[in-house]
Amino acid sequence: MPPVIRLIQADDVDAWQRALVLLCLPAVEARIGEGSSPGPGAIDPPSVVVPSRAAAEQWQRTLEQRVLAEQWVAPRALQEAVGHRVADGTRGTLAMPRLLTRDQLYDAWHVGARLEAPRLAPLTREVLMGASARQASRIHRPPFLLRPGLVAEMLRFHDQIGRLGHDASAWLDEAAARLSDEASTDRGAERLLLQTRFLQEAYRRFETRVDALEGLDERALRVALRQSARSWSPSHVIVTVADHHADANGLWPVDLHLLAHAPGLTRLDVVATRRVADGLFARLRRIWPDTIDVRVLRQRPAETRLEVGSPERRWIGCRDRDEEVLAYARRLKALQPADASSSALVYRRPLPYLYAAQFLLGAAGIPYQSSGTLPLAAEPWAAGLDLLMDAALSGFTRAALVTVLRSPHVLVRRDDGTPIGPRDIAAFDVWLARQRYLGTLDHLDQLRAAPASAPPQEGTAGHSRYAEEWRQEQAARAVADAIRPWLAHLAPLQGPAAGAEHVRALHAAWQACERLPADDDPEASRTRRTRAAVDLLLAQLEQALATHDPTPVPARDTCILVRRWIEERTFALPRNEHGVHLVDADAAPYGLFDHLRIVGVLEGEWPEPSAREIFYPAFMLERLGWAEERTRTGALRARFADLLALPAVAVGVSVPELDQDAVVRPSSLLDELLVFGADGLVPVPAEERHLAVTREDALLATPAIPSATVLDAGARDWAAWRLARPARATAGQTSPVAGDRYSVTAVETYLHCPFQYFAGRVLGLKEEADDEPGLPARDAGLLLHDVLHDCFVQWRRLGHVGVRPADLPEARAVFAEVAERALRALPPSDRAIERVRLFGSAVATGVLEKMLRVEVELFGDVARRTLEHPIDQHVALPAAEGTRTVHLRGRIDRVDWTTDGRIRVVDYKTGRRPSQALQPGVYAHAVVQQERASGREVGIAPSGFVAFREDVPWVQAVSDAKGADQHAFDFTAAVDRIESGAFPVAPHNPFRCQFCDYASVCRKDYVGDE
Ligand code: SF4
Repeated sequence: MPPVIRLIQADDVDAWQRALVLLCLPAVEARIGEGSSPGPGAIDPPSVVVPSRAAAEQWQRTLEQRVLAEQWVAPRALQEAVGHRVADGTRGTLAMPRLLTRDQLYDAWHVGARLEAPRLAPLTREVLMGASARQASRIHRPPFLLRPGLVAEMLRFHDQIGRLGHDASAWLDEAAARLSDEASTDRGAERLLLQTRFLQEAYRRFETRVDALEGLDERALRVALRQSARSWSPSHVIVTVADHHADANGLWPVDLHLLAHAPGLTRLDVVATRRVADGLFARLRRIWPDTIDVRVLRQRPAETRLEVGSPERRWIGCRDRDEEVLAYARRLKALQPADASSSALVYRRPLPYLYAAQFLLGAAGIPYQSSGTLPLAAEPWAAGLDLLMDAALSGFTRAALVTVLRSPHVLVRRDDGTPIGPRDIAAFDVWLARQRYLGTLDHLDQLRAAPASAPPQEGTAGHSRYAEEWRQEQAARAVADAIRPWLAHLAPLQGPAAGAEHVRALHAAWQACERLPADDDPEASRTRRTRAAVDLLLAQLEQALATHDPTPVPARDTCILVRRWIEERTFALPRNEHGVHLVDADAAPYGLFDHLRIVGVLEGEWPEPSAREIFYPAFMLERLGWAEERTRTGALRARFADLLALPAVAVGVSVPELDQDAVVRPSSLLDELLVFGADGLVPVPAEERHLAVTREDALLATPAIPSATVLDAGARDWAAWRLARPARATAGQTSPVAGDRYSVTAVETYLHCPFQYFAGRVLGLKEEADDEPGLPARDAGLLLHDVLHDCFVQWRRLGHVGVRPADLPEARAVFAEVAERALRALPPSDRAIERVRLFGSAVATGVLEKMLRVEVELFGDVARRTLEHPIDQHVALPAAEGTRTVHLRGRIDRVDWTTDGRIRVVDYKTGRRPSQALQPGVYAHAVVQQERASGREVGIAPSGFVAFREDVPWVQAVSDAKGADQHAFDFTAAVDRIESGAFPVAPHNPFRCQFCDYASVCRKDYVGDE
């Protein structure tokens, strides 16, 4: 006998909840309007279909609160209206109903029908679809690259067609027939036809494979249920979700059909609020023509008020999402609710709110609880596995290797059991960079096999550069030896292999390097749970792949599959039984709250965009009964409006201005806030914005708030001490710095950006070495300087000083020979690039030719020349106060003595003309004073740079002594500022920040704010 179906429409969300509570209580007399009854005393709790587990948990609490704590008794009129009478004697007793998601409803039916075959796991189905798709692609090539993400989409599409009550193969046959008519004249249709043929083949193979297994997927389960002679359904089912048009977690046409004919089901109630029922019930009536319509009137007056941040707008504007959570923490602190559990923070997307709430509500001392789940992928432990995959897929490049070794979840030991520490890893990093290591295990083995450097000789200073590099090499070699057996586990990921082999290798490598949490680690329990979840997933994946898909695949595809499934799995937060609820928008209507704050109400989030259909255009899917976007957004708007009326006392809606760094726009759903009249608004006091609820609030406030109760005694003392200190004049100022020896290059860095000088020279932070093909910029510069130095030395040996036009052929030959000798000493991989730089190519003149042309055209007046001219002396330079002496240290690329008694300073630049350059003028002063000390007076000739990437390489920076004075003056002014401790974040050209090695420690982002 078909069940009695009631479509129960409640006037508001409170009435909806009360009708549901009533239906969840056992009826104690014959059900009104039905012929059968289980009879008094036979308690058969109903099954309630909810959208998610989080909603089920909320509803369980609400039931306990209403029935056990409040001992609420449904008015007789309500009992009459919904046709469900309960005895007064049931006050305070509750038989908990079965709260089921759609998938769990299928589980319940599977159990009810006592089918022997188990249900197939989703992971197994995806592996089966992957194997089928790969086989199909050999017969009908798809017009796209077959990636694991697309395999998951194929499975989803197949399931959706089935849930709409169609046979995927039949629909594809029909589509192929239509497309073949158009394919000869339409490129789009041709592509769709190729795709259709591929999908036909893949789905046919997939269904054959599933049918051959013992397990049942959803399609096979439906067939088995229809054929079952047993009574497999619970007798009373209450549906609280909408259909697939209106709700992603809702019921599909095949589910509705099964319910209408489910053996054993005698009563089916669909309960919805008036807004949601509008449209939904009309669609349901088309499927179930014989329904009883019920209306549940409002049970309590509508008294919910809207909290507003300012009179102009009805929502609360916040800078970012963290600020939204903090604003709610301040509201709660100000309101001080007797029971924090009566408040809730409602989000549409769990991240980053769940993380932010853990930190910020925790820091504010506000207890919280959540039945929400986080993606497993967001757990740090799982991120460690991700780094390991990155390292393997990159071919073990230096950056990827060092990153995984630095992960806090990774621990590799040497043979003697001692762990590799951060200093060892830093030494390993520098050593690999020096060795020009660009990846692959073979290259790493070559480096290990190469002879080690000789130890520093006795008597060599322990802090000499050679000694330091030797120590680094020793540590680095020890690291290379220690990690090599561990990396050997990952060898199968260096090429195609069966997916199971890849996963096995990955799992073994991960287990060989995982750093287990210490017992006293506050995160130990969470880390262990994540670890167990990751281990279980890898084991399941390996088994599914080994059983169903032995085809070799690229390691990248297997890693994408692993990542996809880690993203698919979720991870429950530690449970609390009291505190503010952190709840998602689908579960919130099932809770009982006085106060609600809805966060992140942005375009693209409220309502969430629907999953894009990637295979076929909407007009082809219409006939299948595909969900309509208009219906979906209408239903989401209705649910948002219901949410606004959910709390008994007040609701607030907050909107961030920024999502991470991107500017975002408020949602159009905010129009719904207009339902609140002027008397329904509650302004949030402006001073609440400055309420210090966390330590950071109190300490970072301007000025700090030592009296804040959130501070402990130590923090309070520190804040008081800070306030008592005299105010600092400006940001970027330190105490005066003692003078030392200065290189002109370092002072030029100061002029480019004082903070960059501070980070590198004062703090001594190391620059990161980049992995690039060819020599690093610094090494390429050294090579060029060495080659030019040796060329001119050789030229001098042959009895020359300058280069005259007639000397050019000989000079070219000499320079070429010297350069070839230098190139032979380079590794083969670097040689070709440096050869082009030195000798040029068909489209660019090389360094050697450019140098010789400058010599011939401009430097014919040279009488004497020194190369790599050293400077390490006190030099008197023009300064603001007249003259100041600075200890200068450096090496001038070249000094020429001209035939008319002047000196010319020449500096080589591998790149373009420098800005803020002081070297020619300052060094000219130094050489003039050296000469004077030797009893010779010289003048200053035009000096400057040979910038080899310029079309005209000679860049004159100083024309005479006056120009040199200006350089020296700027130099001493900069030295004065360095010694006064002025290191502001003030790049001369912000473009420089893009290539700065200290960007991660620099507060340049805040420069505009200060
Ligand atoms: S990032 Fe920019 S502002 Fe910061 S130190 Fe580097 S150059 Fe200076």
